[in-house]
Amino acid sequence: MASETSEQTENETRITDVAIVGAGPAGMTAALYVARAGYRATVLEAYVPGGQLTTIDELENYPGFFGGVNGFDIASSMQKQAERFGVQFMYAQAKSLERYSDRNLFEITTNDEPLWARSVIIASGAKPLKLPQIDSDKLEGKGLSYCATCDGNFYRGKDVMIVGGGDSAITEAIYLSRICRKVYLVHRREDFRAHFWVVERVKHLPNVEIFWNNEVQNVITNDSERIEAVTVRNSKTGEEHTLEVEGLFIAIGAKPESEWAKDAVELDKFGYVKSHDECHTSLKGVFVAGDVRTTPLRQVVTATADGALAAEAAVAYLSE
Ligand SMILES: Cc1cc2nc3c(=O)[nH]c(=O)nc-3n(C[C@H](O)[C@H](O)[C@H](O)COP(=O)(O)OP(=O)(O)OC[C@H]3O[C@@H](n4cnc5c(N)ncnc54)[C@H](O)[C@@H]3O)c2cc1C
Repeated sequence: MASETSEQTENETRITDVAIVGAGPAGMTAALYVARAGYRATVLEAYVPGGQLTTIDELENYPGFFGGVNGFDIASSMQKQAERFGVQFMYAQAKSLERYSDRNLFEITTNDEPLWARSVIIASGAKPLKLPQIDSDKLEGKGLSYCATCDGNFYRGKDVMIVGGGDSAITEAIYLSRICRKVYLVHRREDFRAHFWVVERVKHLPNVEIFWNNEVQNVITNDSERIEAVTVRNSKTGEEHTLEVEGLFIAIGAKPESEWAKDAVELDKFGYVKSHDECHTSLKGVFVAGDVRTTPLRQVVTATADGALAAEAAVAYLSE
């Protein structure tokens, strides 16, 4: 536990009721619920509000938008809606989280001013891991995706490739096999790291072809810079195949943004914040929402639902 300092006393003027780290859909929903419950909500954001939402060109699976919605547009609406109820946005990157048990206060240090709060909601999200050998920035929105549940529908009846060998890669391959004509599953090793039963299922799907010991070598694009084929190479035999696909799904894992909170709350072996009863962490007064927590589904709709639950829990904690 930290000791009291004069700096600490000075900072107390900046105490908020609930500090929410991350202005993605989870954080902005949490802030909206906290503010509407009559408490002071301060959102701390390292970059721009919206988080991963800002990278979604067309969000098709968020209820209420018949024709889909642009991720950036819905993010900016979420921010305006939160501000309408008095939510404060502060732009800085959280660096650490510490609890002052003698005064029931939390301090979040940042790369700028620290923030003091009676309760904290961790909503700092996660980032999908990228394939280092391809120009991901150029290919995003042109056939490259990190989420079959999100983008699979755009490739209905088409041929696609998915790269990875863990549970998410295999379950996403199964998902894609139901809507796509052909699915190439490319894995750099000889066996999958996924559960036995999903592996058995994917092996028997007639439209899934598995390329073991293969790695993506090169992505070929058409005149509109959209993906039209991907070359893979067998690391044992050196054999190469160029496979015509319109979609390339990367499912090699994600990096949760939890480093800053790791000394305060318990994380699982991948770095996700361990949650129990949906949004509670191992530290009383600190709650978690969205992609950064242990959860079976990471989507906008689950992030917003998590935000509401975490806010309700924080409000209940404050009124204890
Ligand atoms: C390309 C792509 C397409 C997707 N398509 C869909 C789709 O079609 N449908 C769907 O439902 N989902 C989709 N998703 C997933 C969806 O975007 C996420 O599940 C959702 O955004 C998670 O929300 P979140 O608020 O938990 O985290 P995030 O959206 O990751 O937001 C976290 C925020 O926290 C901030 N942050 C991180 N660390 C710190 C720190 N230390 N200090 C301060 N701020 C910090 C980040 O800058 C970010 O703004 C897609 C994701 C990607 C990448």
